[in-house]
Parts: sequence; C-alpha cells; structure tokens
Amino acid sequence: MMKFWFHKYSMTPLTTLSAVTGAQVREGALIKVQWPNKKIGFSDLFPWPELGDKKVIYHLQELQKSRLTPLMEQSVYLAKKDAELRSKKQNALSGATRIKNHFLVTDFTKLPESKLYEAKSAGFSTLKVKVGRDWKEEIQWIEKTILDYEFSIRMDFNSQSDFSTFERMISYLPRNLKPKIEFIEDPFPWDYDVWLDASKLAPLAIDNEAEFVDWKKLPDKIPFKVLVIKPARQDVDQAVKKATERHLKMVITSSMDHPIALVGAIRVASELKTKYRIQVLDSGCITHKLYKPDEFSSKLIFTGPYLSQIIGTGMGFDKELENLDWTAIEMKK
Ligand code: MG
Repeated sequence: MMKFWFHKYSMTPLTTLSAVTGAQVREGALIKVQWPNKKIGFSDLFPWPELGDKKVIYHLQELQKSRLTPLMEQSVYLAKKDAELRSKKQNALSGATRIKNHFLVTDFTKLPESKLYEAKSAGFSTLKVKVGRDWKEEIQWIEKTILDYEFSIRMDFNSQSDFSTFERMISYLPRNLKPKIEFIEDPFPWDYDVWLDASKLAPLAIDNEAEFVDWKKLPDKIPFKVLVIKPARQDVDQAVKKATERHLKMVITSSMDHPIALVGAIRVASELKTKYRIQVLDSGCITHKLYKPDEFSSKLIFTGPYLSQIIGTGMGFDKELENLDWTAIEMKK
C-alpha cells in the first residue's frame, strides 16, 4: 500500500505575482510518498485559489478517501521521479541536459535597473514580464528594455487584456522591435476567432487558457505557437502529445511553487529537452526569488539562467526534508 505524509508551509511574496494575484502569503504542502517497494519520494502541492483551485486541506482530505485530485496526481507523478532518483542516490541534475531559464519580472515598477543589467551580464537572453495593468506604461518599459538590453521578450497577460488594448499595445511598438517579442501568453480568455486575429499581430502562447480549448475540434490553423507546460499542474504526457501533434513549441515552467517543485520542473524540462530539442524553448523555473528566502530556496545554486547545483539526492534538500515535522495521512477505507 502507498503511504502519504504532508507538511504544510507558507511562502511570502516580495511583490505582487501577476495581474490577478496579489502579494498575500501563499500556502502549500510538501508531500512525502512511500511506495510498496519502500521507495520514498517528495514533492509539493501548491494550489492557486485565484485560478479556481481548492485549498490545500481539500486535496489532503480527498487523499484520505483514496482519491487523487488532478493537482495531487501531479504531486505523486513528481514524487515518483524524485523517489527513482533518490533510490539510485542520483539527483535531478545527474547526467541531465542543461536547462536555460528566462528572467522573470512580475512587477517591473519595483525592479531596479541594476537587476536587468545583472541578468544580461549573467547570460539571460529571454525576459518574461507579467503585464495587464497599465498597457502604455508596460509597452514603454518593454521598448526601453529591448533597446537597452536586447532581451527577447515574453509577455504574460494572465488573460487580463482585451483585443483592442492588445492591438493598441502591439502597434505602439516600433516595427523593427517586433521580432524581439518571442510570444505573448494568455492575452485574454480563450476564444478561437479573437485569438486568431491576435495571432496575426504577434506570436501567442497558451498557458492557463489551454484548459478551455476543445482540442478535438480545434481547426488545423492554430492561433498559438507555444504551449506552456507546468508539470505541477498538468499531465505532462498529454500536454506533450498535444504539442507534438500540433507542432507547437513547449515552455516548461514551475508554478511559482516550492523550491522542490522548481527542481522537479527543471528535471521534467531536461527530460523533454533531451528528447525534443528545439521544440523545447527556454524554461521558466526561476521563481523562488519571488519569495522571502528560506532554508530551501537559499540552497538552490543558479549560475545565471542555469540551475547549476543541488545538494542531496532526488530533487535535493535531503537534510531539510528530514528535519521537517511530517503528518501521516490516515487513509480511510
Ligand atoms: Mg502564464
């Protein structure tokens, strides 16, 4: 029989995280799973109530009834990868393809110029910026950032724009800078026709809106070029199948979740990059810096856009995980 334990934790954002999420303390749970073969793996469970997720407690209660919510299913999937590596005393970077990440800016109004300079010097080539609050201020900042630092830009609206704002924003940008827009993610709620019009103005990526797409009825002409895959939130095999069938590029990202989940996302990205190469673009897994540092995040060692070292086996943090208080989940039959 499988056994489960949890440890609840919280993380405090340093600024607002997107146009739809504020800066309030976020709650998640670390999950420990033991398989009948005695292998043990760890992962994270990190709901986003703003996106319609139930809170942590709900997922734990369902587990008690031997039911896995989709979010918990992904936790178990990642814990399994962790367990396999741990049992071989390997860690997520052992023999893995290196994964380059984008530089994430959740609130550019709070970003000192020096951070952009540092990011450029450290080797980041892609910058992702959360937009959808004040389009004019945003596009002016983007224009300046492209001119000064030559980053490729990913914009993420978290569905907070509308077509006319989107159109005005794109047309504001000088023609010669447009190729620097790698893609625009979730500009507004999914609607095939509106997305198709938008895709004529700039390349689009789909993230959370992908769940509203009827993939079976989707015409051959697809309005987006990139599928964002979050291993903590989506069935990876199914997402990859969609991407390969439809010739979409893939961007693997963490879910602004616990550092152990961030390492898990990088591991998945690495496995996919090994297999699909150019179809897998720069990832978005450097999200631990959005929160106040803690004993986990301070152990992650990045060299510019690359995770260069993790201490321990599996997704890392052997000592830290051992020192936590774990509560066993009593499964009701
Ligand atoms: Mg997104």
